[in-house]
Amino acid sequence: MRILQSEIDRIKRDVSVEQFLVNPKRQGGFLVACCPLPGHDDKTPSFRLNLAEGWWKCFGCGRGGSDVITFACAYWGLSWPHDFPLALERLGARRGNLGEHRYLPPMLKVAPEPTRPVAGPRLPDRVAIDIYRAAAEVWAANLWRPTNRDALAYVRVRGIPDALIRSEWVGVSSDTLGAELRKRDLSPDTAQLLGLLRRDGHETFAGRVTFVEWRLVDGNWAPVWATARVYGEGAAWDAERKYLNVRGDRLVVGLDRCRQAHEVVVVEGVVDRLAILRFGDAAVALGSNQPSPGMYAELRALARAHRLILLGDPDRAGRKGRLRTLATLDLPTAAEVYVADLPPDVGDPGALAERPDGAAIYQTVKQAARQIDLARFGRLVAACHASYESRKAARCARTHAGPMAPIRHRSSLEGGENDGRMTTARAQPT
Ligand SMILES: [Zn+2]
Repeated sequence: MRILQSEIDRIKRDVSVEQFLVNPKRQGGFLVACCPLPGHDDKTPSFRLNLAEGWWKCFGCGRGGSDVITFACAYWGLSWPHDFPLALERLGARRGNLGEHRYLPPMLKVAPEPTRPVAGPRLPDRVAIDIYRAAAEVWAANLWRPTNRDALAYVRVRGIPDALIRSEWVGVSSDTLGAELRKRDLSPDTAQLLGLLRRDGHETFAGRVTFVEWRLVDGNWAPVWATARVYGEGAAWDAERKYLNVRGDRLVVGLDRCRQAHEVVVVEGVVDRLAILRFGDAAVALGSNQPSPGMYAELRALARAHRLILLGDPDRAGRKGRLRTLATLDLPTAAEVYVADLPPDVGDPGALAERPDGAAIYQTVKQAARQIDLARFGRLVAACHASYESRKAARCARTHAGPMAPIRHRSSLEGGENDGRMTTARAQPT
């Protein structure tokens, strides 16, 4: 790819590091913000951008550079000068193939190594991974045994093709893990600590369909987490929780599997995720509508290099959950996020895979997805927050005012929270 010098100049003129900053504040000739670079979980604003000259510097992790292109390399973890064209392309450069003009990248003035770790979830150690691997293999093999016909039937009814069942390691737990661990000389005590075995030696997930999360650990695929779902029918299951997880930190399911994709669909359930994979798209699942702080860190990293489509229920609760996720994510305005609603008669994304017209509905839904104007969204969230804080302050003042105050404050608090929700729901640009 060749890029004209004029195009490089245009990028430097039109694209600013500011677009990658969250809530930047003006201080003299500088914008000050928390460091947006990977590997630095900045709690105090350490990052400075010189508005007149375009150079930037983080006083926390020590990285800095002369312009938006050096910044882009640090932000997307691109190598210099090899990935220089890629950095330009991501910043919106148009390809030019006129003449023989070749551009030699300028010298990089970026300190390469971040000093502080990312606050992502912790992955299990090698011993735990060996145990997860035993579990993943036993469960996957179980699913194809005649005794577990009903579990396989359940997964097939959910519209998941056999090839996907195998490649995504869907399985079923039938209480044979203990024996397998003994065979492999792995510790049942550690398996208990991980939440795979109960104290009585039986499997925690017994009688459930299992889903295993695989991640790249030191360059190799390794099973690092698991969740399991009930699949039987009838009253006996009603008292039980639909999903059980292992004990480790919760993870964004499917994160490493969509590294190659440009666009990633974000859904709630693991079965929803399989449905999207079935339609040929990349997807991650959050497992609930309340991600953990570590999962937010993972989602932020994902939004750095991918377009995200938040797909879910069209009802109020579903939409509110997605907007809450988005507000907590606090993404830089350069991120690309879309929100897509399913039609009211489709319960969740997983239901699409069960319908013959599912693929067509999915395409329609995707085409109707609305891009979120993150700058505007951020301002609305900040306004909501400010209004909530001022109400809280007013409530405190009233509480301390006299003995009758608490009764009045309770009703005004309820009204206040409702108002806040309404404004957040309207924050979505149409
Ligand atoms: Zn930094």
